[in-house]
Amino acid sequence: MPGWGAAVLVDSHSHISMRQFDKDRDQVMARARDAGVVAIIDVGLDLESSRAAIGLAERYAGVFATVGFHPHSASQMKDDDVDRLAELAQHPRVVAIGETGLDFYRNRSPREAQITAFKRQLELAHRLGLPVVVHSRQANDEVLGILADWAGGSSGPLGVLHCFSGDKELGRRYVEMGFLLSIAGPVTYSKSSAVEVARELPLDKLLIETDCPFLTPEPYRGKRNEPAYVSLVAERIAEIRGVSVDMVAQRTAENAIRLFQLPV
Ligand SMILES: [Zn+2]
Repeated sequence: MPGWGAAVLVDSHSHISMRQFDKDRDQVMARARDAGVVAIIDVGLDLESSRAAIGLAERYAGVFATVGFHPHSASQMKDDDVDRLAELAQHPRVVAIGETGLDFYRNRSPREAQITAFKRQLELAHRLGLPVVVHSRQANDEVLGILADWAGGSSGPLGVLHCFSGDKELGRRYVEMGFLLSIAGPVTYSKSSAVEVARELPLDKLLIETDCPFLTPEPYRGKRNEPAYVSLVAERIAEIRGVSVDMVAQRTAENAIRLFQLPV
C-alpha cells in the first residue's frame, strides 16, 4: 500500500451519516484522517440512511457505503425494497449489503419480520456477489443457523459479524465457515467477551470498527464515538496479543480491503 504512513487504519463499521455528526462532520473526518484512518465503511440502517451513506461516499475520499435494513428497521422493509436496495447497490461506492441480522435483545421489530428481512438481504447479497454486514444480538443460535444455511451454498465473499459479541468457540465456527469477525469498542471494557476473541482468533480473520456514534472505547466511554477512535481498538488488540499496533492496524486494514474489495 504505497504512500501510507505508519498507522494505517480502516474503520469497517460506522454511522457518520447519522444526525449526531451533522454539526461537525468535516472536523470528524479530518480527525479520522489525522489518526491514520484511510477508509471508513458507512453502514446503512434503512433506505434513507443507505442513500445518505452513498452521499457521504461521494463526498469524502476513503468513505464507502453499505445498503440494507437493520433488524430494528426490519418491519419497515416492504416487498419491493429488495429491488430498491439492488438499485442502490449498483453505485460504485457500495461495497456490501447490511447491516442486517437479528436483534432479540431490543426486539424493535417482531422476530418473524427480522428473520424475513435478514434472509431476503442474504439472498440479495448472494445474487449481487457482495459481502454482508451482520448484526447479531442475543440471537446467536438463530443467526448461526441462518448463516450456515446461506454460507453452505455460497462461493462468493461472505461477510463480517460486526461488533462480534460471541465467545471464542462461536468465533471459530464463523471463521471456519469463511466469515470475518469485527472487534469494536467493548474490547476496551473490562469483562468483555471480545477480549478472548481478540486474543485467540487469527489476526487475518479480524476487522476493527467503531460503530460510531455508539460503543465508544475507553477512555472516552459515555461520549460520542467517531472513526478516529478506531485507533484505540487497534491499540487494545495489540496489547492483548502482545504485538505492535502497526501490525494490528495494517493486517486488519488489509482484511477489510480484501473483504470489501476497496479500491485503495
Ligand atoms: Zn452499526
